[in-house]
Amino acid sequence: MKDTHKHKGMRNQLAQVIENKGIKAASAINAIKAVPRHLFLDSSFEDHAYQDKAFPIGAEQTISQPYTVAFQTELLRVKPNDKVLEVGTGSGYQTAILLHLKAKVYTIERQQELFKSTKLFFDKMGYRPKKMVFGDGYKGLPEEAPFDGIIVTAGAPETPKDLLSQLKVGGRLVIPVGIEEQVMTLYVRKSNKEFEKKEMGLFRFVPLLEDKN
Ligand code: SAH
Repeated sequence: MKDTHKHKGMRNQLAQVIENKGIKAASAINAIKAVPRHLFLDSSFEDHAYQDKAFPIGAEQTISQPYTVAFQTELLRVKPNDKVLEVGTGSGYQTAILLHLKAKVYTIERQQELFKSTKLFFDKMGYRPKKMVFGDGYKGLPEEAPFDGIIVTAGAPETPKDLLSQLKVGGRLVIPVGIEEQVMTLYVRKSNKEFEKKEMGLFRFVPLLEDKN
């Protein structure tokens, strides 16, 4: 598959839809305009890739809705060279958005099939996260901590303590918390011990699964 003018036109329209839904950060909107979402989906979804919808990506997982991706990206406030941890690589679409914003991205996926296929896809496309890890993101990535930002792209039953402890002071954790539906939650680390917490509305994600091994 290629990226054509037609795809670019559809991305601009999608960016407009997302702006109309209330996303203000130009960086998030521009990233949506830049990243060719149709290439992250099975070719059978090509015609639908620029609708503001989630789609199946195999292994019972989904690529997040573009509005949700933009919403989380806006909350994360990524700056160039920020060290960002993503839990739930999935299709790699959110990873590519973070890379477009020039973050140094560390990303974890616990489904082996998705981990492998997205790694191959990234190699082919020239997307270069600092690290792609096959494992349980519930525990974060202590050997690479602390992070400027942590983004969780699956619904967590509760906020994992390890993720909070792996934030720099001033760092931001964006995580959907809940079982049936999730409250988008933003934590900002104010000091070693203090976190500011803000709840930002309801979303629906596939569940963040904790490894029992
Ligand atoms: N950002 C992805 C979202 C995929 S859905 C995209 O836009 O394509 C959420 C992903 O989180 C799934 O791929 C799922 O396998 C993964 N996941 C669930 N629990 C996890 C865990 N404990 N650690 C790492 N990844 C996890």
